[in-house]
Formats: sequence, C-alpha cells, structure tokens
Amino acid sequence: MAQVRVEQLTKTFGGGVRAVEDISFTADEGQIVTLLGPSGCGKTTILRCIAGLEAPTMGRIVIGEKVVHDGATGRAVPVEERAIGMVFQSYAIWPHLNVFDNVAFALKIGGKQEKKTESLRAKVLEVLQSVGMEGFEKRYPSELSGGQQQRVVLARALVYRPRLLLLDEPLANLDAKLREAMRLELRDVQQRYGLTTIYVTHDQAEAMALSDQVIVLRAGKILSQGTPREIFTRPKHPFVAEFLGVSNRIEGRIAEARTDNLVKVIIEGMDQPIAVIGEGNVEDQVLVAIRPSDVELHRNIASSQENTLPGRIARVTFLGEELDCLVRVGDVTLRARDSAEKDWRSGEQVQVRLSRKNLMLLRPDFMEP
Ligand code: ATP
Repeated sequence: MAQVRVEQLTKTFGGGVRAVEDISFTADEGQIVTLLGPSGCGKTTILRCIAGLEAPTMGRIVIGEKVVHDGATGRAVPVEERAIGMVFQSYAIWPHLNVFDNVAFALKIGGKQEKKTESLRAKVLEVLQSVGMEGFEKRYPSELSGGQQQRVVLARALVYRPRLLLLDEPLANLDAKLREAMRLELRDVQQRYGLTTIYVTHDQAEAMALSDQVIVLRAGKILSQGTPREIFTRPKHPFVAEFLGVSNRIEGRIAEARTDNLVKVIIEGMDQPIAVIGEGNVEDQVLVAIRPSDVELHRNIASSQENTLPGRIARVTFLGEELDCLVRVGDVTLRARDSAEKDWRSGEQVQVRLSRKNLMLLRPDFMEP
C-alpha cells in the first residue's frame, strides 16, 4: 500500500492536444480518490500516466517512496515495475479461459513469477473469495453475468497484491441497479485490502458513494477538490455545481454584506432580497444556486419568514415518487422537486421557501479558471 503523489502533471499529445495541464494531487495510503468530470476532460490520461502506459510531457509521479516518473531527470519506471493493479474500461476477460485461469494468468504475468502451483492456487482462491466468486472457478466468461465478469476483472487486478489500484469506469457496462450494488462491494474490497485507489468516473453518484476525496476536472484542469460532502454541499464553481445537479442558478447582486458570513442578494425580477451564507462585497455580481430538491413549496406558511416568496406553479411533471415542478417567483423560474403526495397542480399559488442553509453563493468570475 502506498501514498501516491502527482505533481504538476501535463500531457500534450501530437498535434498540440493538451489533454491535461498542471495536475497536482495526493492520494493518501488506503484512500479512494476519484477523478470526476465529463467525457474528454483528461481522466483516463491521468490514470495512464500514473500506470506508465503514457509518458507525461511534464511533471512528477511518486508512488510510496519511489519516484516512478520525473520529467526533470527523465526517470521513468516501466509499467511492470510499478506494482499497480488496473481495471480499465476496455479490459475484458479472456473468453477462452475459465475464471480460475483468468485470475491465475494475471499472477503468472504479474511482477512476481509464481512458480509453486499450490501457493498460486491458494492465492487465486483467496482473491476469488474476497470478491464473492468462490465456486465459480470452472465457469467460462460466457457463463457469467456482467457483474460476475466485473468481479473477475477486479480479482485479476488484486491477485498480485498491487500497491496501488487504478480503476477506470469499472462499472460502466453494468445496468443501474447492479452498478449501485457493485460500488458498495468495490468499496468493501478496497477497504479490506486497505488499497490506495484512484477511481475514474463521470457519474457523480458513484463518486460521492465511493470516495474519500473527489477531484472535479474540466478540460484537463482541476476545478475543485475535497471530500464528497464538501464538493456536494458547497461547490464553489458554477461548472461543478451544474455537474452535481444544482440546476437552479440565478444571477444577482450583493446589496448588503454582513460580518457574520451572510449576504443579502438582490435578484432581478424578485421583490425581496435573499439572505445567503457566504462572503462578498456590496455590488458584487454573484450567482445564487439551489438544488431542485431544496426548493421548498408550501401552501400555508407566513410569507414574513426569511427567504419566503409568493410563487405560482407553472408546470408539473409526475415522476412516480416525486413531482418535478417549474415555479414562477416574480420573473424568475425555479425548478422544484417534491413528494408526489403533495399533489401540486399547475396554476396553484404557493409560498416558495429558499432556506439559507441550502443556498449556495457562486461567483461568475470563477466561471473561467
Ligand atoms: P472519457 O470519459 O470519454 O473516457 P476522459 O476524461 O478519460 O474521457 P481522456 O481520454 O483522458 O478523457 O482524453 C483527454 C483529451 O485528450 C481528449 O480531448 C482526447 O481526445 C485527447 N486524447 C486522448 N488520447 C489521445 C491520443 N492518444 N492522441 C491524441 N489525443 C488524445
């Protein structure tokens, strides 16, 4: 197990494509650090550089005590000496080998040559058990479900006890329900082995459920970094907020800035200012953001309460357990999610409460990093 440090990593491909630029982060021993971002933002490139499958243009990568790449000195440790377990999107299991041999083959070609058959057998069986695949040794891939195949791929990456695990969208080919179950299993296995892991995904729910640290990337650069809770509840960057489902973003101007970390924001088209937790100066242009599930709709509360505004439901879409509502507040349209039991109807007058604990203050000047 090892800490991983990526320092000022830049990778430019032929034709001047700058896939990643000046990326620095640390994954502490035993942590899962997730690289999260849309397609093409450079996630896979970072992983391939750590693995040694791609030569960085600049930067340094350190795994444990070992510098595996140093752009300044030209040092580059070959892939097979990095002791990394990898599960990439494109890694299929060999169709002509049964489950046991698929895993055993990884040991044979892995860093350490496994000569003694008995110890090889014990290692393979142990790792198959740890991913819940004992009893499946003789099955061929065609006789396994997608989830089971994915467990074999994971077993193959774990069997030679890597110091570091790299996972690139390992659950991408599974259906939504299985993906949810597998991510919990993955977390269990990772914790049991105490394996430092770098995980790549574009799925925010997966990133939140699995990670100790999340790094949000856009166009090859880090926009935001923190624990899942920090990133989810207080995204500071409008792009990060949008990527994490904060679809209500309204432009405003700070009218009053108090010393106790509270500002009052005037929104064009709304009658009264909104109180938002955050810092800023009077006249600053800001974005006030809120998740649809945090926009509260009420039939009978006093409009004198803080951040409570009269509104009218413009459209309701039935989603099963929930209703997706578009609500007009003054000249502003907000999206709200509420329980279907509330039975909101289009045209209904409501009180809209934007609780200050749920509002986020974003700065438009952060928009371009
Ligand atoms: P996805 O989620 O779609 O896999 P990603 O975030 O992993 O995307 P990368 O595969 O790292 O993104 O690609 C980052 C950028 O680098 C993209 O613009 C891509 O087109 C470019 N790129 C990747 N590999 C190469 C290559 N071998 N040659 C040239 N450009 C490349």
